[in-house]
Amino acid sequence: MKNLNRIGVHCSVANGLHNAFQEAKRLGINTFQIFTRNQRQWQPPPLKEEVIARFHQEKEKHKEITPIFSHASYLINLASPDPRQWKRSVEALKDEMQRAQQLHLAFVIVHPGAHKGSGEKEGIKTIHRALEEVLQKSFKPLLLIENTAGQGTTLGYRLEQLKAIVAPFPESQVGIALDTCHLFAAGYDFSNEKGWAQLMRTLEKYRLLSRLHAWHLNDSFYPLGSRKDRHAHIGKGYIGKEAFALVLKTFPLLPKVLETPKGEGKDEENLRQLYELL
Ligand code: MN
Ligand code: MN
Ligand code: ZN
Repeated sequence: MKNLNRIGVHCSVANGLHNAFQEAKRLGINTFQIFTRNQRQWQPPPLKEEVIARFHQEKEKHKEITPIFSHASYLINLASPDPRQWKRSVEALKDEMQRAQQLHLAFVIVHPGAHKGSGEKEGIKTIHRALEEVLQKSFKPLLLIENTAGQGTTLGYRLEQLKAIVAPFPESQVGIALDTCHLFAAGYDFSNEKGWAQLMRTLEKYRLLSRLHAWHLNDSFYPLGSRKDRHAHIGKGYIGKEAFALVLKTFPLLPKVLETPKGEGKDEENLRQLYELL
């Protein structure tokens, strides 16, 4: 059962992109997520040929580690009502798709963005325009929109919003990733069988299951419906372990990535908690 599931973590690339593979090997994981660039910069320098080559080399050596995710920059706001900010966001996401393609990554995960007062409807329209522009060029990696906790004016915390965001695009162009912390903070209580069944019905109703390619497994530091995005260690937050057992059992084949707080031995401990639930 253990090797059917693909479970990994967000890996540090502090000492170079290829370092993620050393980290993955050390942890014994078969999938991971990385930032391909500095999160704080709008225009990171392009990937150097030798960096790409080194990454490919490691990827070739560790074929068992698949898929690999890129998480786009948190600076990106595809719903921004400010045209300059919006344009910068579109360019940054295009750039991220390009980088992921150069590295032969399977997926790019991005947050939908925040409407900043322009309203939900306008915000979603703005996201559609952004995605249309980004996807004008066809990239090999698949773009996944992640659900959010609903902090501030962020969109995509209600599943009907997530549906509205992805609906105009074919499944071959836009998929989704679900973050357990964000779902819970947004008010979806799936911490018991009944709540889980309800969540599955909602995903089915909005035709989101066939778009679902990955889970982010994070416990929630804040209670149900808090709409605050702060991750906790597995079993140490408000969600509780049963919910994670349900995710593992229901979606054995989908890759799952931990984005829990880092620290000495923390990834190991969170992975151990998940393996125990299998
Ligand atoms: Mn995310
Ligand atoms: Mn996440
Ligand atoms: Zn989060």
